[in-house]
Amino acid sequence: MKNNRRYFIFCLLLLTFLQSVPAVADQLLQLQSPPFTIRYDARDTHLAREISYRLVGSWQRVQGELPVMLPERPVVRIAPSADDFYRVARGSVPHWGAALALSSLNMILLKSNRWASVNNDWSSLLSHELAHLAVYTLSKGFPVPTWLGEGIAVAVSGEVDITRRSEVARALLTGRIFSLNELERLHSMSGNEARLAYTEAVLAVNYFRERFGRSAVVLLLNQLAQGQSYERAFHTTTGEQPDRFEDKWRRHLWGHYFYYILLGINSWIWGFILVLVIVAIIIVRRRNRRTIRRWEQEEPWEAESDFDPFDW
Ligand SMILES: [Zn+2]
Repeated sequence: MKNNRRYFIFCLLLLTFLQSVPAVADQLLQLQSPPFTIRYDARDTHLAREISYRLVGSWQRVQGELPVMLPERPVVRIAPSADDFYRVARGSVPHWGAALALSSLNMILLKSNRWASVNNDWSSLLSHELAHLAVYTLSKGFPVPTWLGEGIAVAVSGEVDITRRSEVARALLTGRIFSLNELERLHSMSGNEARLAYTEAVLAVNYFRERFGRSAVVLLLNQLAQGQSYERAFHTTTGEQPDRFEDKWRRHLWGHYFYYILLGINSWIWGFILVLVIVAIIIVRRRNRRTIRRWEQEEPWEAESDFDPFDW
């Protein structure tokens, strides 16, 4: 009876173990690209070779910003199907994500362009995900705020173009700028919201680096790696409270990005608003000129004055 029970427990443990092993793991091929191992389906051979080629430069780019050695041999897995991608990701990726860093597994998970429409800028994509692995290693797995982690990844990958700045300007104008704390729910955002959130994150990191120096990013991650709270680690690194930093960053956005609204006039509504503003300016100017002429005719002595409050 006792032996039967042991046998039953053994079978149960074996079954649990077998279920946790990815069903297709052994079917994937391997390509060594030191220090990385690329795992891929035979149908993605061409992509695997391109990833191998791009990894070298991407990793150098990351190490230029975040000098760190990754533990063991990181794996870049090209998911052979959507099912495989979401099974390995365990649901922790939004539908718009083309890749994912599973930092605790030391793995980057990629969608294949064979079954997904993926932006083919593999160098930027890899730099972004490698930066996440580097941040995780530097912080020793302690939580890193999303604005900081994503901001570093976007900054390293160079993914922000000038058109995104006009989106920030538009968000300022309409009061839709996310607080840095709101960026924590980035993965549940829609594609458009996420686009703004990523831009805000990188602008916050750029502002942080401008004020405290590029090395301050690594110093802050080192503080977090000691298990300190975010507030304490931030204050230790910068001498400033995070809330104060965010207030200053928002003022910085108003001062530096508001005028990028002019670049965002790519839809009829913004063009229409601009036309309205120009028409309003013309009407006000004409009305002011008429008023001044009338005053000159009614009271000629005022025309001799140098003071002209409407001359703008
Ligand atoms: Zn990311």
